[in-house]
Amino acid sequence: MVNSDKALVSITRCSRYQYDELRNALLQLLAPFGGINALVSSGQKVLLKPNLLAAASPAEAVTTHPLVVKIIAELVIEAGGIAYIGDSPGSDSQEKAHQAAGYKKVMEDTGSKMLLLNAVSEVKVNGTEERIIPLAAELNQVDLIINLAKMKTHSLTGLTAAVKNVYGCIPGKHKKRFHMEHPLPLDFSRLVVDICLAVKPAFSIIDAVVAMEGVGPRRGKARQTGILLASGNPFALDAVAAEITGFMPEQVSTVAVARALKLPGSVLDDINLNDQLIDDYRIKNFDRGVVAAGKVSKLLANFPLAWFRNMLYARRPYPAIDGELCTGCGACVENCPLQIISFEGSIPDIDQYECIRCYCCQELCAEGAIQL
Ligand code: SF4
Ligand code: SF4
Repeated sequence: MVNSDKALVSITRCSRYQYDELRNALLQLLAPFGGINALVSSGQKVLLKPNLLAAASPAEAVTTHPLVVKIIAELVIEAGGIAYIGDSPGSDSQEKAHQAAGYKKVMEDTGSKMLLLNAVSEVKVNGTEERIIPLAAELNQVDLIINLAKMKTHSLTGLTAAVKNVYGCIPGKHKKRFHMEHPLPLDFSRLVVDICLAVKPAFSIIDAVVAMEGVGPRRGKARQTGILLASGNPFALDAVAAEITGFMPEQVSTVAVARALKLPGSVLDDINLNDQLIDDYRIKNFDRGVVAAGKVSKLLANFPLAWFRNMLYARRPYPAIDGELCTGCGACVENCPLQIISFEGSIPDIDQYECIRCYCCQELCAEGAIQL
């Protein structure tokens, strides 16, 4: 086990989702922390919290791959723990999303159980500000949370990795309310950082064996990067994820907020990579999507005045529906936090005067019919 005052981030390679190769890579990833036995004690209830954005198949790279979830569940059980799998998706029922992502099969294979996140337990947190967070009450039933994130671009925060993944610990309707109350990326990311401080995942793993680039987090392109990352510190993990994908730290607004708060591990100098070189893991030509495109992002990164940055953020693009791709499923209508999308004939129509550009509709459209 490595001893250092710096936040330890482990990083390793795994070329594909093949059981033996992935299990060996995950064991190697956990080794600098003392292995799973240093994390999980006998009898402990452990929640595995994947990225379960929506009911999507593993091939779409929207959700944490089920083989990652399966192997970590096996390791938890081998250590004497009791494994649960749970997340509150942005759309679709929890049952349907678990089924589509392959987690129901993981439960059958490993004996792990589903933890439905429905009830609310209010938790006070003092992070970017003192506030009350409505976390899923069911989190109180477990002893620790292992955060199993997927590395994907994100139209609002730049990148979703370990920190943003905890947003799924907020039960359904409150997620929509928060999007409505915090439409600007920095405000939303302050909230997400506070949620992460409230959830306190004991350990985080990022599945980037196949990541998502481009128009993430729902309809980007799957990109094989062959990388796994892990840390007890989700802020350090995301600082490394932002670096290897080629983002400026300020472009990933959750990383920017963590740095502004001076959270341990939020800058690379505070991170111990266990003798690995970050240059060996940089992903060439990673398509960082809309947040990193164009000159505005450079201004956002470099301009010191928050009000000016927010003004630039306010010039973000509006969503538009492509009638050729739209199937009329109604998911955008149902999930718009402002309820400003309505059906005009067979294709929905967005009231752009009211739109706050939270991009929930674009995030949750399974057809890729909503473009920015
Ligand atoms: S835009 Fe997408 S989410 Fe909305 S109705 Fe069409 S297919 Fe469904
Ligand atoms: S139309 Fe889309 S981007 Fe606009 S407020 Fe509704 S969900 Fe958010």
